[in-house]
Amino acid sequence: MFDQLKAQPQDKILQLIAMFRDDPRTTKIDLGVGVYKDATGLTPVMRAVKAAEKKLWETETTKTYTGLAGEPAYNAALSAMILGDAVPTDRLASIATPGGTGAIRQALELIRLATPTATVWISNPTWPNHPSIIKFLGMNMAEYRYFDAATRGVDFVGLMEDLAKVKSGDVVLLHGCCHNPTGANLDGAQWDQVITLLAQRGAIPLVDLAYQGFGDGLTEDAAATRKIAAAFPEVLIAASCSKNFGIYRERTGILIGIGAAAGKGVLQGNLNFLNRQNFSFPPDHGARLVTMILEDAALKADWMAELEEVRLNMLTLRQSLADELRKATNSDRFDFVASHRGMFSRLGLTEAQVNTLREDHAIYMVGDSRINIAGLNARTVPILAAAIAQVAG
Ligand code: PMP
Repeated sequence: MFDQLKAQPQDKILQLIAMFRDDPRTTKIDLGVGVYKDATGLTPVMRAVKAAEKKLWETETTKTYTGLAGEPAYNAALSAMILGDAVPTDRLASIATPGGTGAIRQALELIRLATPTATVWISNPTWPNHPSIIKFLGMNMAEYRYFDAATRGVDFVGLMEDLAKVKSGDVVLLHGCCHNPTGANLDGAQWDQVITLLAQRGAIPLVDLAYQGFGDGLTEDAAATRKIAAAFPEVLIAASCSKNFGIYRERTGILIGIGAAAGKGVLQGNLNFLNRQNFSFPPDHGARLVTMILEDAALKADWMAELEEVRLNMLTLRQSLADELRKATNSDRFDFVASHRGMFSRLGLTEAQVNTLREDHAIYMVGDSRINIAGLNARTVPILAAAIAQVAG
């Protein structure tokens, strides 16, 4: 049987990690992998997470199964953090999932279960796992323009032209904030236009919210998601706690389905069914920590303060990289780095330039010239700026 298997294409980011690991140069800089790192290059366990883990160890009395949808307190607390009071809770159904990836996978499976011929629209570019899962599930897919290679901002005209072709019942996957891989985001007025257009077209939004708190703030980063949630009869939201709680390996996410209150029971039943088919009960450890933090005023305040430090650290790095690039290239061509948001920026370099940065300067970034801003520190910002100026100046 196994001889029938074909080799799978290698994941480009995992390949890059291996190349970085094997590079003997001590000056090497890793801007590839998408995890937050502090100034010393570490991805620390957040203080509130450690405190919650200690409390959990002391107070947990059983590890028996949770519910199929996860613990109701987790779903309620995280839904409230994402949605505020944008939607009455009798319209919300939800399941805990293994990370944001699990939430996206379950969302797509739900869509396929309900409307197998629906087309799922994704931004070009997007997180590579989006098209990969859609293709794996055998679903129809279409792309909308997103990135303007000249300005490194959003190609809003192209985006609106493409989304005008969406058909009723099609699903449109939108990054709620901090677009991955570009770092370029819609402003409030542009979100309003997208929402009006998609509502006219009869589209169903699927919002991927993986970086709440990494852009403009915890509430600000949920603003578009909340507007969408309130504006459409049916919405899916796939959210991840990997980044904002720093619990990547605990696999903590949620899929929220918003529909008519009368259909909530059937929607919830289908979400539970999908968890049952795929893995039965969702992981609980990370979800429990998130619940403990969100329900305890002191832990929540400490978590929010640390998340804000993380966010501001990335903003400072963005500004200093933009400043250094101004000096190094004697131009404002790279000013966009300061207005991008989230962990990533697509620099708009050619693949050959990306290769030269790796080979000659030991600077590692993804082939499409996406850099992880958090991979930088005060020492490496000028080194990167000088190297970019040399290969692309
Ligand atoms: N969506 C996007 C856009 C992401 O960048 C990520 C993480 N890289 C995810 C979803 C899923 O994250 P996880 O499964 O690790 O929670």
